[in-house]
Amino acid sequence: MRLLMVGPPGAGKGTQAVRIATHFQLQHLSSGDLLRKHVAEETSVGKRVAEYLKAGDLVPDAIVLDILRKPIVAATEAGGYVLDGFPRTVGQASAGYAVAQDLGAAVQVVVHLAVPREELIRRMLERGKQSGRSDDTLEVITHRIDVYEELTTPMLEYYAERGERVLHFDGAQPIDEVTTTVIRALEALRAGLAG
Ligand code: AMP
Repeated sequence: MRLLMVGPPGAGKGTQAVRIATHFQLQHLSSGDLLRKHVAEETSVGKRVAEYLKAGDLVPDAIVLDILRKPIVAATEAGGYVLDGFPRTVGQASAGYAVAQDLGAAVQVVVHLAVPREELIRRMLERGKQSGRSDDTLEVITHRIDVYEELTTPMLEYYAERGERVLHFDGAQPIDEVTTTVIRALEALRAGLAG
């Protein structure tokens, strides 16, 4: 099964993605985690993307596509993936689709977690206290939510128009409840999915 998680920063995408991946034995691929790893290891990619991450701006498409290509193909061969954080724009979604379709690696189900803005801010400020992530400050959090609303939300319509299965969930529910609801919906769908 090949899944895509869509939701604003702070919606719990990463947490749910890990749980879904474990449940269905899929690989969890997080573009944010991969990019942060490059920054931490000070690779050439890391040096090029550090400022974008710090500001909460999107990294150029070519870089993200490049670092994800191999892991996506490998995960597809190993039984499927839960993609978390990519694609994030209609441009990335269509570029990714062109490549993935040829490889038989295209997304089959889109899982959308919706959470009100105030709750997102509350959660991320809380997370910032623990994680020390440089993009979990109020100013950057607000900016990341704006970027999401402007650039990522239109992607949901794009997928719907393309005829993909888009499942909407209330991400403001307690985290375990969201997991149970999403897994139940995916279990029901899985039987009908080919490949
Ligand atoms: P995340 O962990 O998904 O919240 O991503 C953290 C940061 O990584 C974002 O604010 C962006 O700077 C960058 N990033 C992650 N995924 C993408 C993507 N698909 N396209 C562009 N930038 C991304």
